[in-house]
Amino acid sequence: MGSLNNVSAGKEFVRRNEKLKASTDLSISGTLDIIRSNLNVKDQRPTIPLGHGDPSPFACFRTTHVADDALNIAVKTGKFNSYAPVGGILPARRSVAEYLSRDFPYTLSADDVFLTSGCRQAIEVIISVLSYPGANILIPKPGYPHYDACAAANNLEIRHFDLLPEKAWEIDLEAVEALADENTLAIAVINPGNPCGNVYSYEHLKKVAETAKRLGIPVIADEVYGHLTFGSNPFVPMGVFGSMVPVFTLGSISKRWLVPGWRLGWIVITDPNGFLKEAEIPSSIKQYLNMSNNPASIIQAAVPHILENTKEEFFENTISLLREALDICADEIKEITCISLLHKPQGSMFVMVKLNTLLLKDISDDLDFCNKLAKEESVIILPGIVLGVKNWLRITFSIDLPSLKDALSRIKSFCQRHAKPQNLKLDQRRTATGYLPGSNLQSLEFHEAVDVESKVKTFES
Ligand SMILES: *Cc1c(COP(=O)(O)O)cnc(C)c1O
Repeated sequence: MGSLNNVSAGKEFVRRNEKLKASTDLSISGTLDIIRSNLNVKDQRPTIPLGHGDPSPFACFRTTHVADDALNIAVKTGKFNSYAPVGGILPARRSVAEYLSRDFPYTLSADDVFLTSGCRQAIEVIISVLSYPGANILIPKPGYPHYDACAAANNLEIRHFDLLPEKAWEIDLEAVEALADENTLAIAVINPGNPCGNVYSYEHLKKVAETAKRLGIPVIADEVYGHLTFGSNPFVPMGVFGSMVPVFTLGSISKRWLVPGWRLGWIVITDPNGFLKEAEIPSSIKQYLNMSNNPASIIQAAVPHILENTKEEFFENTISLLREALDICADEIKEITCISLLHKPQGSMFVMVKLNTLLLKDISDDLDFCNKLAKEESVIILPGIVLGVKNWLRITFSIDLPSLKDALSRIKSFCQRHAKPQNLKLDQRRTATGYLPGSNLQSLEFHEAVDVESKVKTFES
């Protein structure tokens, strides 16, 4: 029997699961908590949160009344107070199959759909289902840390491939080929991308599918930002290439309908050849869900109405708000010397900008930048290090426009206050090279020229 007088007595009863610590260290919310702890309570100005990915608190990003009504009706019928079957109720699964089939050259069935508690649970489930001892998984860098956390929790070896900023954040497919081996269980592709705002062309996605086919691995296609695009590339779902390579399509209503708190997502088997069925993957998903949980029955009941009846107008309004916010963001960033936007996002709700610490006198890296910015300006942004890339910053622009403008002007004065004195010289050089404020190309060239050394060092490390 253990002695309770012993200071380390706790250890005799329990031992913590160290893997869980690793997964919170990697999390966005854990990092934002640390950054927020720097806030100065004496600052009278409102804190502006540009580190999160949740626009729903802002009145301009209120969901459609169609969604509100659907939920109200589901409650009032009194018919959805019971447990839902594992994987979801049939009308909900059928409506997700129909919703996704609109974009596919084949028709999905309700049996291809498994409802989850948001896209986060979809990621957890699919990684757990595919995992086996000694396996590895290919994950993008910069990426979405929940993949890393779930892979770590399943004892997988994580192999990162780069997204290339100079190529509109396309996947470095040569790196993918070099990283994969016979124990690679899948490649994760996030499109439209968080954090980079990439929207891949049909041609690039086809190359991804061809590569995965050659390597004999399925694609985990995270399309939680599906259709949230505002650039020249339209959204193409990976499942379009489902007959070339098996695809797990992950999604949710969180982002497109601006209701992340409703927790309704899905895993969809987009594999018309039936390879995954042959490997009994659908029943493994069901077994996993059997010991996990379901989204609330009430939201499952509302889903068919939401997916079928939301007006185009609602989506168009969100897109035009995001486009306007992004334009403001891009214009303001051009005016801030120490950060640069290498590629303007075409989708999602974020910009990734490169931080040039060489231009700053007392900022050591991206985390230091974010901590001091919170302290001095009450603006919260996310350091790239959480996403796998040091000295980058992720700025959310899905927030009301006045707050966004306010935040950017605070970031600008922060950068000016911390600028190295030789910035004067650089400004002269900028005039000498004919830089015109507002000219995107030249300002990019300027930033890149100054920044090549640190870029190579940090991005490739
Ligand atoms: C937000 C997000 C998720 C999680 O979506 P939920 O439906 O809120 O669980 C998954 N993947 C990416 C890339 C995201 O940005």
